[in-house]
Parts: sequence; C-alpha cells; structure tokens
Amino acid sequence: MQVKALVKGTVQGVGFRPFVYRIASELKLKGYVKNIGRGVELVLDGSKSRISAFFTKLRNSSPPLVTIEDVSSSEGTFGNYNSFKILRSSGVATSVSIPPDVGICDDCLRELYDESNRRHNYWFITCTNCGPRFTMTRELPYDRETTTMSQFKMCSDCEMEYTDPLNRRHHAQTIACHKCGPNLQLVDIHGNELPASDQIKKTAELLNRGKIVAIKGIGGIHLTCLASDDKAIGRLRERRRRPQKPLAIMARDMDTVKSFAMVSATEEKLLKSWRKPIVVLRRSNHYWLSDKLSPGLKTIGVMLPYTGLHYLLLDHTKGPIVMTSANLPDEPTIKDDEQAMAKLANIVDYFLLHNREIYNRCDDSVIRVVQEKLVFLRRSRGYVPEPVEVADAGETILALGAELDNTFCIAKDGKAYPSQYIGDTSNLDTFNGLKESLSKFQGLIGASKFDSIVCDLHPSFNTTRLAKELAEKYGCRLVQVQHHFAHLASCMAEHKLEEATGIVCDGYGYGLDGKAWGGEVITARGNAFNRIGHLEYQPMIGGDVATKKPVRLAVGILSKFMDANEIAGTVAASKDEVRVWLKQLETGFNVVESSSCGRFLDAVSALLGVCYERTYEGEPAIKLENLALSGKEYIELPVKITRENDSYVLETTGIFKALVESLDSPPEDLALSVHHALAVGLARIAEKSKSRNICFTGGVASNELFNRFLAEEITGIKTQTKVPCGDGGISLGQAFSISLDKAHQ
Ligand code: ZN
Ligand code: ZN
Ligand code: FE
Repeated sequence: MQVKALVKGTVQGVGFRPFVYRIASELKLKGYVKNIGRGVELVLDGSKSRISAFFTKLRNSSPPLVTIEDVSSSEGTFGNYNSFKILRSSGVATSVSIPPDVGICDDCLRELYDESNRRHNYWFITCTNCGPRFTMTRELPYDRETTTMSQFKMCSDCEMEYTDPLNRRHHAQTIACHKCGPNLQLVDIHGNELPASDQIKKTAELLNRGKIVAIKGIGGIHLTCLASDDKAIGRLRERRRRPQKPLAIMARDMDTVKSFAMVSATEEKLLKSWRKPIVVLRRSNHYWLSDKLSPGLKTIGVMLPYTGLHYLLLDHTKGPIVMTSANLPDEPTIKDDEQAMAKLANIVDYFLLHNREIYNRCDDSVIRVVQEKLVFLRRSRGYVPEPVEVADAGETILALGAELDNTFCIAKDGKAYPSQYIGDTSNLDTFNGLKESLSKFQGLIGASKFDSIVCDLHPSFNTTRLAKELAEKYGCRLVQVQHHFAHLASCMAEHKLEEATGIVCDGYGYGLDGKAWGGEVITARGNAFNRIGHLEYQPMIGGDVATKKPVRLAVGILSKFMDANEIAGTVAASKDEVRVWLKQLETGFNVVESSSCGRFLDAVSALLGVCYERTYEGEPAIKLENLALSGKEYIELPVKITRENDSYVLETTGIFKALVESLDSPPEDLALSVHHALAVGLARIAEKSKSRNICFTGGVASNELFNRFLAEEITGIKTQTKVPCGDGGISLGQAFSISLDKAHQ
C-alpha cells in the first residue's frame, strides 16, 4: 500500500527530514520525503501496519524543535520505489517558519565532554536539534548559504556528516568543528590578542581575578564578571552608570542555582528547557552571591548555560557569572565586534569575540513564574520568531508597538509574529535598530507589503511617526489604537476572545482625553471599547520628571489634605522644595493628571521611604512589591468607588491618607495592604461589567501580589502567558485589533 502525506508546522531547519528518514528506514518503508512550499511532503510504500506505526512514531517521538500542526494523508498509487530517499526541496517556502535559537542539546553536551570525540571542547558545537537559528538566518529558505555560517567552508569530515541522512548533523546548517568552524579571539581593549592556548580557560581566569569581560554570544554580546565579586560588580555598575538595575546571572547547573535561590518545579522546567530564558527566582536563605546583583530586591534573574562556550567557561569560573546585555543606557545591545571595541572600551577589561557574524540581534528572554503561570518580562531569544495563533484578519498587518520596551509584530494568515525585544525607541540608536530589525524580519516572515499599519495613539512617539511614513510608503491604511485597549487586545488575542473586560494597570499611556492613563478598567466588544472605570486622577508635578522623582508624586497626593509643613514632615523633601511644588500645583504649570497605577505605587514607594529616585524603569513599584512580599498583617484601607462622568473611580487619595495615618505600622504590612486595596477596588469595578472574560494586563500585571489578590477576587481571571503583559505585548494587541475590527463588522 502507498500513502502520500503533507506535514505542516515548524518542520524546516529542525531535523525533520532526517527524522522521517530514520523512522521510515527502521520500519523498512520505501518512498521519499522532501520540503515543499507548504511544508514537508512524503510518500510511504509498505504494509498497512508499518505505515500506521510510522505515523504513531511521527507524532510521538519527533525531535524537540519540530511542531507538527497538521498531517493530511491519502492512499493511492504514487510511483515505484526501491528505497527511502530524501529528495531535494522544491518550491519557495511560504508557510514555514524558522525556529528560534536553541540551547545546546544533551547529545552535543555529551560530545563536548567526550575526549574521543572530534568536537571535544569545541565551543561552537551544534547539531540539527540545537544551535543558533533566528539570529543567524538572513533569508528563507533556510540553508547554509542563507545563514551567517556561509563563510565557513565545511571540512571533509563535517561534509560527510552533513550529507549522511543517518547522521544527527544531516543538513545541520550550523555544522562546524575545530578544523573548519568559527574560532575565538581573546583581546584587550586595544585589540591586542592575549597569548593563551585555551582562550576560554584564560577568560575564566580573568573573571576569577575580578576582571570584566565582554563575551560575544548567540544574539549579542554580554558583559560578564564573577557574580560573587562585589568589587567587580560595583565597577561594572559605575562604569555603566547603572547603580541599581538588577543584573542577570548564569549558573553552571541546577545544583548551583539551588545553592542560592528557591526553585519551583515550573521554574526548574523553564530553566532547563531548550529555550533557556532568564527566570526571575527568589533568593533563598542561603544566598551567597553579591548583594549588588539586585539591590533592594529579594529576587535574582538566573539562566543556565546554552552554548558549549558557556559550559566550558563555567567549568573554570569560581561560581556563577553576571551575564548582562552589553549596551549603553537605552541603546540596543551590541552584536558586532567593531562596535563592541568602540563602545565598550571604557566598561570592560577584555573581549572574548568570535568571527561568526550575528545577523539578527536577540537579547535573552526574561520570565517570571507567578501563580504557576509564565509572565514574560521580555520575550526574545528562544521564542522569536515563533508566531502566536490569532484569528485571520485576511490581510497582512504591521503593528509598531509603543515606545518603551518596544517590539513590533507582523500578522498574516492567522499568525502573529512578535519581534525580538527592541527597547526604548525614544533613543535614536534603538529607533534605528527597530527599523533595521523590521526590514530583516519582513524578509524572514515573507511580508513585502502591508494592508494595515497600526501604532499607538500618542502623537509624538517615534513609532507613531514611523507608522505614518510607512503607511504612505506602502499606500495602506493607518490605524491608531489607544494604549490600554491595545494591552487588553493583546490578552484577548492570547485567549482568542472577541469580548472581554480588562483591568489594565501600567505606567503610562496616552488617554482618549489626552491625560496620562494607566489604571483602567475597559470593556471591549470587538474593537469597540469603553473605559468604565479608572483610578482617581493624581497630579504629576513636573510631568515626566515626577516619574524619575516619585517623591513629587507623593507630594501631589499629600497636598490634597496637608499643608507644606506637614508634607515636609512626612516625606523626604525640604520645606522649600515642597513650597515650590505646591506653587506649581496651584498654577498648574507642567502638571499632568494621571490615573496610572504604576505612578500611584511609585508615590506609595516614596511615602514609605522605599525609593525616592528612580534609576530604572519600574524601580519604585518593583521595590515596593518586594517589600510587600514579606508583609503579614493587613491594615484596613478604604476601598471607595465613586461615579464621575459615567465612569467608576477608585479613590486613591483616601487610601493614601489612611497609609499616612498608619505610618507607625510595619512598612511591609502597609505595602502589602495597598496592593490588596487596589486589587479589590479594581476587581469591584470590573465585576460591574458582568463579563465572564475578565483579563488582567499592563506592566503592573507582572506583580505577584496583584495577581494573587485578583485571582482571589475573580475566579478564572485571564492573564498573558505568551507575550509580555507590559509594553512588549502592545504590538500583538495592536495587530489583533484589526481582527477584532473584522469580528465586529
Ligand atoms: Zn545538538
Ligand atoms: Zn569541520
Ligand atoms: Fe503600557
């Protein structure tokens, strides 16, 4: 009997054809397998029972990177075969996607440490199941020639493996060895090579001696130093002008991780998965690394090694190492050698570089596990360019996201492809990085033109301006979507909803009334949305300056029930400062009204003396949450909801006043209680919508306590687990709003 089948999904560049070849050969089936435009086609010739055994194996034991979305098959007569063969590709790939970069697999790891293997100690060991993919691919179809491996001519040994269908490196485009593959250079800041027989071992020695080394990786360059070395970390922070922002680390193995952090089963699984993200863990009582890694926080961002180089390096370092993206403030991560030498010479002591080009920049992904669910703080390496399935809008859409933590997203044929992490697009270099990544991404996704381009409602974001330019260039429609509706739509996209109510809490988004929104309850039916409630507006004295100096936010609220003397006696500000600010409030000069949940938490953070000055995004609220995590007692805070202009308003002045009156209580209890009061109040407003689909999203939705309290208030509350709830998820929501538009018509 003969059967012809078409397999769709992630089936190219993932060792799928050799896998098919192997199981067909084992079962003594004849026929062929080949890549075609729509997926992989195969013909099987053999007995019915063997063919059915083949399909069982196909489903149950496919390689880790293969995702089979659909198998359609039919019986018939398809020719004469006397063996099983892998045939050449035909047609241009249209609905296949290249996989994300994959952490080193167990087989390669075994070979790395096997003295008899010819790749023993080879730092760039990979196979069909592991290694870089997205970051090195220039265009489709995925082939050696279309990747940044094209410059390395295979040696005869590698070539033999590459062409042998039974070899586990058959058609592995990253195939390389000591003889023919990329190699390392260890240089000082003047570019002089350091004499060393083993550059990785030498690098480890430098780190052990307190040096800072820039190390080129898969999707960019990392800054590294010993994670237990206070002095080195202090120097790194000083040189980089980053006094407080948490630094991620890399630890050799799970035992090491467990020596300083608490790890749940879900977290362990995530750490060990081939995607190898940074997972934000709680420090344990035995924490022994430097306190300077995450000042003021109880958490630490950890990842496991994901390349041969990482393993070989950590074999020789005295414990875990800092592994933070090499960039200057707000600029994109550096990925090219020359740029690294030019920009990092004042920060690092040495460079460990290699001669393989990184084509697509891709930072490490950062994930937190909250209530046993994944919360993406950054979705990048190991995940991009994997699509999120969405309703097919019947057109090709480009969504450009917001401003901070930017990602863009291309949607077509029922799939939305969120980009890698881009960053703060108000920075010109990062904005240029966005444009560059976009044109590269278009090539990989096969989107040469767009029907709709979507951006934020904010009139002066760089992304808004770019959207207008591109809409003109492509002669297509431009759609502007309100920031918090885009957050909600992103959550609706993940849960395939057309109707929902969203509690959207974040830092800042341009509101329909031109004010600064950020603590919103929104109902949506299709793309028609209604803001049914929000946090009370509070003044931001000095506008954006207040975001950096949260004590101003506190003063803004205190001014509603205290005079200058009382205020100066309550928060860390002089009477003179307070008087100037009160004057400003009176005249309204440069005072912005904000309903932001993030800003209110910032004000509380300043009131409780947790954080007066913000040195990184979200710092005051993140530190407040960390404090609240050790809270035990609830302090009664008023949850009062009033009606104003057809909206429910959760009064925050009353909550703040009650906090001031309880300042003699333990600050951790106050911090805990304020989270609880806000969650209860927002839940009460959301419940008024009577919707069965209540979503919680926005940057604040990464907060563990809000998630816990909202889950207590609202059964089945929906959160985001596929893209960030913060502004990194905005682009998906913008793209999905077009589908919602269609659904509504
Ligand atoms: Zn491998
Ligand atoms: Zn070779
Ligand atoms: Fe936002």
